[in-house]
Amino acid sequence: MTEPMHLRGIALPSEEVVEFWIQDGLLTDEPVPGATTVVDGCWLLPGLVDAHTHPGAEQPGDPLDANVLRRHGREHLAAGVTLLRVPGSADRLPSWFGTEPDQPRVLSAGRWLGLPGMFYEGWVRHVGEAEMADAAVEEALASGGWCKIYADWVVDEGGLYGPHLPADRLAEATRRVHAVGGRVAVHAQTAEGARAAVEAGVDSLEHGLGLEVDLLDRMAAQHMALVPTFTVWRTFERVARASRSARFRDWFRAAHAGLGPLVSAAHEAGVTVLAGTDSYGTPVLPHGRVSGEVRHLAAAPMPAAAAIGAASWTARSFLGFPGLEPGAPADVVAYDQDPRTDVTVLDRPVRVIHRGRLVR
Ligand SMILES: [Zn+2]
Repeated sequence: MTEPMHLRGIALPSEEVVEFWIQDGLLTDEPVPGATTVVDGCWLLPGLVDAHTHPGAEQPGDPLDANVLRRHGREHLAAGVTLLRVPGSADRLPSWFGTEPDQPRVLSAGRWLGLPGMFYEGWVRHVGEAEMADAAVEEALASGGWCKIYADWVVDEGGLYGPHLPADRLAEATRRVHAVGGRVAVHAQTAEGARAAVEAGVDSLEHGLGLEVDLLDRMAAQHMALVPTFTVWRTFERVARASRSARFRDWFRAAHAGLGPLVSAAHEAGVTVLAGTDSYGTPVLPHGRVSGEVRHLAAAPMPAAAAIGAASWTARSFLGFPGLEPGAPADVVAYDQDPRTDVTVLDRPVRVIHRGRLVR
């Protein structure tokens, strides 16, 4: 049982003046006797979403740590982030994460899946290309219904490109995961990787550096999301600039510069663009900063309302969660100004309500 609460304000994206009561963790439009008014006259958003975050292990290769995971979950929640999609982790996430009252809701993807040579040793489950489909089904069934596959991996060692998962293997894995009701998130940093993901019909393209614009209409028709993760590329800029490989530096400069125009074009083409930070919880990539990703999306540029939706109602809908409506889970963030007129307002929620409890 939670204390009955009452909220009144302007809901987004509808812009309607709404009044909700909260009972047993759900929103209702039926007055609840004895409810305390906790929000009045604010802007109300469905709980924020970080669609690409990796809580639980801060240094590449570190094992998943329950205490670290719990702290990271609370950091997200304090910022109004009530739903996480975790596309890959060092180990499968424990079931308490995502269900306990002081933790956000979570959709996880099991362990990262990549060919030998991809990603960080200790964090990734390396599998041969012939075993990728089996492994993807296994991770999706053992987690929150998602799996995460590396289509490519760009490395700064000698050459530029690491291994690529052949397009037909990615397509096979996608068919198999969809057949068991799962969804597929794919990491791509190259044109070839992004093309293979679109042709395979995966559910979300993570990063998407190098994605060619001729694929955007097809992505939109396939209801495939793009999660550009500007936040991580901003921090990676320093690493790339320090590289001794001119080829690597040039690749990153061009890919990074192209990301804003790509995201604008994707939004215009009707592709679902989502906010994901790629945060690990390190000092350079802390959790609970999805508001920063919204700033990057708005600067791409995307219309402010769409950039905010990418971290709220649009992401919730894509992930199968309702917005602000009777019967929906009482996950609500309130702001004292309209965040569409200034997206930095998202940094300062005046109220965070999660599972019908006042977090802030
Ligand atoms: Zn990631």
